[in-house]
Amino acid sequence: MTSSDFVMNNELPIRLGFFFSIFGLMAVWEILAPSRSLHASKIVRWTNNLGLVFFNTLVLRLLFPAAAVGTAFFAIEQGWGWFNYFVAPFWVAVLASVLLMDFFIWLQHVMVHAVPVLWRLHRVHHADLDFDVTTGTRFHTLEILLSMLIKVAVIVLLGPPVLAVVLFEVILNATSMFNHANVKIPAALDRFLRHIVVTPDMHRVHHSIEDDEINSNFGFNLPWWDRLFGTYRAEPRAGHQGMTIGIRAFRTDKWCSWLPGLLAIPFVGKAQNYAINRREWDRDNKP
Ligand SMILES: [Zn+2]
Ligand SMILES: [Zn+2]
Repeated sequence: MTSSDFVMNNELPIRLGFFFSIFGLMAVWEILAPSRSLHASKIVRWTNNLGLVFFNTLVLRLLFPAAAVGTAFFAIEQGWGWFNYFVAPFWVAVLASVLLMDFFIWLQHVMVHAVPVLWRLHRVHHADLDFDVTTGTRFHTLEILLSMLIKVAVIVLLGPPVLAVVLFEVILNATSMFNHANVKIPAALDRFLRHIVVTPDMHRVHHSIEDDEINSNFGFNLPWWDRLFGTYRAEPRAGHQGMTIGIRAFRTDKWCSWLPGLLAIPFVGKAQNYAINRREWDRDNKP
């Protein structure tokens, strides 16, 4: 049995195993060594954030039963995509595919901040008034579907090995829970880790209410794209304890913590004034 067969036959247990172990690990770490005290009730946020994850998983399985892995198999059968056309050593194809998929996720993240209608969807992730392991899994259903469509397109163009797709999805899921966790990591360790992975302190800057800070550190997984493209920012001006998390447009639990509010956010108000063609540099301009 090849590694791809093993991964395909055990995809669901592999995914769930990683999800629950990393989630559990980060949740315990948050309790033992929290970085910031939480603003909203943890029970309310967790129930609603995880409720959204559950709902998204159902919708995704219904609309995309084959998902990304199925697309990779299909591309291989059809001979579509770069790595099905130009033969490369297996591990080169796996590493290059994981790297390139991570770049496309970074680019997608930049675009959902820049394009007003996409920012409406992505506001759901940013409206969380706190920053913890459940923030990392909290995205509007339409953004999850958009991500899947983009991923399918990238896989069809790239033709990655199936193993690369599973590895990428499992790693991304794990790092997203890690770098959203409300955990304290010693400064020296954080500085070291930042060279290879996006750390909680690095990604927390991206959840700042300040326009310039939220428009930095778009990486979810590898920290290199932000450094390469000039969107890296080491620390928030107000410090990790003093910074305000969230967005200006939504500041109440009705919108920021409860599921009906989260699902409604894309359809409410203006797309705020910092998306690509809405920049006014008027800090008091409320939507
Ligand atoms: Zn973002
Ligand atoms: Zn985030």
